[in-house]
Amino acid sequence: MAKKEVRILDKKFSEFISEIDIQNRIDEIADQINKDYEGREVFFLGVLNGSFMFAADLFRRITIDARISFIKLASYVGTSSSGEIKELIGWNEDLKNKSVIIVEDIVDTGVTLEHTVNNLIIRNVKDIRIAALLLKPDAYTKDIKIDYLGFSIPNDFVVGYGLDYDGFGRNVPSIYKLVK
Ligand code: 5GP
Repeated sequence: MAKKEVRILDKKFSEFISEIDIQNRIDEIADQINKDYEGREVFFLGVLNGSFMFAADLFRRITIDARISFIKLASYVGTSSSGEIKELIGWNEDLKNKSVIIVEDIVDTGVTLEHTVNNLIIRNVKDIRIAALLLKPDAYTKDIKIDYLGFSIPNDFVVGYGLDYDGFGRNVPSIYKLVK
C-alpha cells in the first residue's frame, strides 16, 4: 500500500506513526502510570501547544486521583528550534508538595524540558516525572530521564497529533514526517 502523504503549506509529509500505534502506546503508558502512582495523587502539567492531544488522550485513561493544568512555552520558529524559550501562559497553580508529571509532545534538544523542570524545582514540588510522546535521541543534549516515553524517533521534523508546521497540521490524527 502506498504511504499516506499530506501537504502542509509548502511542504510534503509522509505518514510515520499511525493513529492506532499512537493510541496503543498511550494505553501502555497510562497503565504504567496507573500502576506506579496507585493510591497516590498526581498532577499532570501539559506543555502547550503541542501536547494538548497527547495530554487529553493520556489523561482520559488515568484512573488514579489526578488533576491537570497547562503551561504555554514556545521555542520553535518554522521547522527549527530557536533555542530561546518564551513563556506565554504561566504558572498559577500551587504545586508545592505535589507529585507532578510533565506532559510533553516532543523532546528535541531538551531545552524546553529543562526549563520546565527547573521551574518546578523552585516551586518545591514533591517529585517530578516526565511523559513525552516523542524523543529525538540524536538531538537531545540533556541528561533528564524521560520516565514515560511513547517513541524514539530520528532527527526529522514531524507534524500531526498536536504538532504543527507554522500552526497547521495539529489536527491530523497520526504523525507525519517531512519529505526532504
Ligand atoms: P526542545 O526545547 O526540546 O528543543 O524543543 C521542544 C519543542 O520544540 C517541542 O515542545 C515542540 O514544540 C518543538 N519541536 C521539536 N521538534 C519538533 C518537530 O519535529 N516538529 C514540531 N512540530 N515541533 C517540534
